[in-house]
Amino acid sequence: MRASVSRRAVTCAVLAVAALVFSGLQPSATAAPAPTGDSAAVVQYQVLPTHGSVNALAQSLTAAGFDVYGGGGGRLFVHAAAAAGDRLAARSDLTVVAEQVMSPAPAVAAPASQDDILPQRLHGTAYDTFYGGYRTNDAFTQFLGDLEAAYPDLVQVVDYGASFTGTNPLQVACVTAQAGTGCQLTPNVEKTRFLLVGQIHARELTTSEMAWRELSHLVDGYGVDADVTALLNTTEIWIAPQLNPDGVEAVQTGIGEDGLANRSDAWQRKNLNPGTRSCSGGAFGQIGVDLNRNFDSNWGGPGTSTNQCSLTYRGVEEASEPETEQLQDLLLALFEDQRGPNPADPAPNTTRGAMITMHSYSDLVLFPYGDARHAPNDAGLRSMGFRMSHYNGYETGEPDEILYAVSGSTDDFAYEQLGIAAFTYEIGPGSGSCSGFHPAYSCQDSFWALNSGALHYAAAAARQPYTMSLGPTVLTAEVRTTSATRAAVEALADDGAYGQDGVGRPAAQQVTAGRVFTGGAPGAGGRPKAMTVNGTGTSATLTTTLQRTAQAQLVYIQARDATGKWGPFKVVWLPARA
Ligand SMILES: [Zn+2]
Repeated sequence: MRASVSRRAVTCAVLAVAALVFSGLQPSATAAPAPTGDSAAVVQYQVLPTHGSVNALAQSLTAAGFDVYGGGGGRLFVHAAAAAGDRLAARSDLTVVAEQVMSPAPAVAAPASQDDILPQRLHGTAYDTFYGGYRTNDAFTQFLGDLEAAYPDLVQVVDYGASFTGTNPLQVACVTAQAGTGCQLTPNVEKTRFLLVGQIHARELTTSEMAWRELSHLVDGYGVDADVTALLNTTEIWIAPQLNPDGVEAVQTGIGEDGLANRSDAWQRKNLNPGTRSCSGGAFGQIGVDLNRNFDSNWGGPGTSTNQCSLTYRGVEEASEPETEQLQDLLLALFEDQRGPNPADPAPNTTRGAMITMHSYSDLVLFPYGDARHAPNDAGLRSMGFRMSHYNGYETGEPDEILYAVSGSTDDFAYEQLGIAAFTYEIGPGSGSCSGFHPAYSCQDSFWALNSGALHYAAAAARQPYTMSLGPTVLTAEVRTTSATRAAVEALADDGAYGQDGVGRPAAQQVTAGRVFTGGAPGAGGRPKAMTVNGTGTSATLTTTLQRTAQAQLVYIQARDATGKWGPFKVVWLPARA
């Protein structure tokens, strides 16, 4: 299923000079030597504005053809050819504060066994890898099929369309208890839904790896881990690991053939729509539409380009690309439209549903809107963003508050059209050995460790994101048997469990109540029992004792703050009586 990038290959040599002009990276007569002495290298420059806003600088640099792809902490991250460094340094509107050659990870063999990231029933399976351990696009297709076959009660795979080239299916896995009777493409269902998507930007290798690990984590945890079991009993987790499979194939081939040289398809971000213009290919002038600027939400607004070779090319019209149009259709099939028709209408407090689109890199949690607008549900979105960054530690805010303006993005569409809570993660640090679109495969363990809890929070809060995320997080809970028939429960509730960095970090209130549901899930027969709140702070322990029954059961713990908001459930097993 190798996608064709022949148009790029044929025109690459003759258009090399023209491409520099297209992308704004004209060779300079006074060019300083490249930091590596390798003019083919891609260099990351971290820049600070000398005046004006980060956003204004980002727009100006993008217009000049630089690949401005990330930032944080008041900086922008810019990719450019090594030879363009002096052109950046000569600008009066910025200061270059750091530069780093983006070199390939040292060549190492992929781990001999993939069992660490496979659920138990698939242990021993070998999936094709590239670049030291990343699974190929074909391996993802195989994995989803294997999951469905090995866990038919938990997984259903849906082909929701085909890629631009027509050679790759667009696939999403629905993971839930009794998947065979659920997972219908209609929004009017009893279960809550949470959608997780990755690799809409092909070169962002980390993002589909996170989706893979989440899939394994969910099916392995069902019946074992209390939180996962409760989640899958009440929620459908829809996971589309690779939204841009044509691009992914170009990236994996490019890394193999050309490494990370700036001419390599390793840098392919967009889909493989060849358009009507010839682009140089590689890091700075590639074919394709930026799918994350192509959605039907303020399409063509700030942060988008009309230049077909630009990395942020918006396409000829909103949802012009099959990858975009079919994801929009999937969102409309999964979630009811819960927001009113007017731009200022908030979605109601009872809104159900959430989604996260994963990108890399910069260590950010972003939420709508990407342009200058504030979302009518700003308080809920911001609170949920900071709740998640409590786990991953990422800087949190709207794109135009902490990065640069974006229009036509996936999360803006999901929120604007449907009212669901929608977020973008930028996974991976801005500098250091695990930065970049192509970090060593071994870096993925640290990314997963940071994001597993954040993803779980999102899925649990999807039940009612705009109220639950305002309530306290129950961070830990423990059950200790005290006799043959009783057990003590102790939980830690924290209304201040917010990430530290970002814009508009919400204030915490006192934890004023706690409760635990037994005998069934809340809203499905479970009965609440009040817990004792120990202390008067924004963080408090909750305690109670429970009667054990003939069967082990899940119990659901929740805390409330002084504003009356109940947070999401933390779930633990209560053992059967002895
Ligand atoms: Zn991206």
